[in-house]
Amino acid sequence: MDYEKKRIFVTGGAGYIGSHVVKMLGDQGYELLIYDNLSTGNPWAVLYGDLVVNDLNDKEKIIQTLQNFKPHAIIHFAAFIEVAESVGNPLKYFRNNTANALNLLEAARLCGVDKFIFSSTAAVYGIPAENPVAEDAPLKPINPYGASKAMTEKFLEDLAFGDDSFKYVSLRYFNVASADPEGKIGQAYRNPTHLITRAVKTALGDYPQLQVFGTDYDTPDGTCIRDYIHVVDLASAHLEALKYLLAGGNNQVLNCGYGKGFSVKEVVDTVKEVSGIDFKTADAPRREGDPPALIADNRKIVETFGWKPAHDDLFEIVKGAYEWEKTFRERFRE
Ligand code: UDP
Repeated sequence: MDYEKKRIFVTGGAGYIGSHVVKMLGDQGYELLIYDNLSTGNPWAVLYGDLVVNDLNDKEKIIQTLQNFKPHAIIHFAAFIEVAESVGNPLKYFRNNTANALNLLEAARLCGVDKFIFSSTAAVYGIPAENPVAEDAPLKPINPYGASKAMTEKFLEDLAFGDDSFKYVSLRYFNVASADPEGKIGQAYRNPTHLITRAVKTALGDYPQLQVFGTDYDTPDGTCIRDYIHVVDLASAHLEALKYLLAGGNNQVLNCGYGKGFSVKEVVDTVKEVSGIDFKTADAPRREGDPPALIADNRKIVETFGWKPAHDDLFEIVKGAYEWEKTFRERFRE
């Protein structure tokens, strides 16, 4: 099949993960249209395709855009992603991550788009009974962010159940980090909260210290454990998912992680090693909504797509994040 000629509609394509996927698909020759409200994304991050700046609460605009572009598939990234913020402002998350996803799905159905890739999250599992956690574990989110994504997964499941022509892949991301090795794009949030970015920025002097949220968890060193995945490996999972759906593949829900966990302390040590800077840390109370450990059982994505991670190394991940942060400052003269 001539995949490269296919038209792909990408929401949130100006954002961190979306822009890396846009770059990878653009490099492969796909035709792309990006729909993004630029709330956290940046126009300079869109390396391929036209950018429509609009919000997903505007269903008429989505319909009009889909009718003009006639995509073969949709990849839906646009969403809010911060656990702690979702605890304080749950409706913001249900509005954007759930209600706006419903707008997009309704528009897609109306316009006859029947292939859909969804950015889901390991937060749908809550506190899993077992780690690594497999896709068939019960979904018991412990924060509104996870709940907002679990509901959208349910929309997809029920939609596909009732309509055999509609096919989707939900990718459950674990902890995504690092950046494009060519240094063109990377995470560029105004006030990032995610651990690796925050630690890298602390090393570079943006913050006086890094808070370690919770040191009394039931883990070997008392801090939370996460499965950190390089954004380029995550992008390749999307490429595989897209090829799979375009080739007539079936509905899938797949973990995206390496099956290996690192504690907050291990990540901090790695950032210190990579940067050569012994920045300050401060023990802080647990952050609301944080599960103690989340590690992916990734056998299903490996078996289904033959997905082969190429950057499965915490040092490389942190180094990529650190190098990007330096490039970013240089480029934008922060
Ligand atoms: N974390 C931390 N200090 C920070 C940011 C994060 O100790 O400044 C911890 C957080 O409590 C969690 C882990 O790092 O245990 C990963 O959090 P992050 O926000 O990166 O991702 P999440 O797992 O919440 O999606």
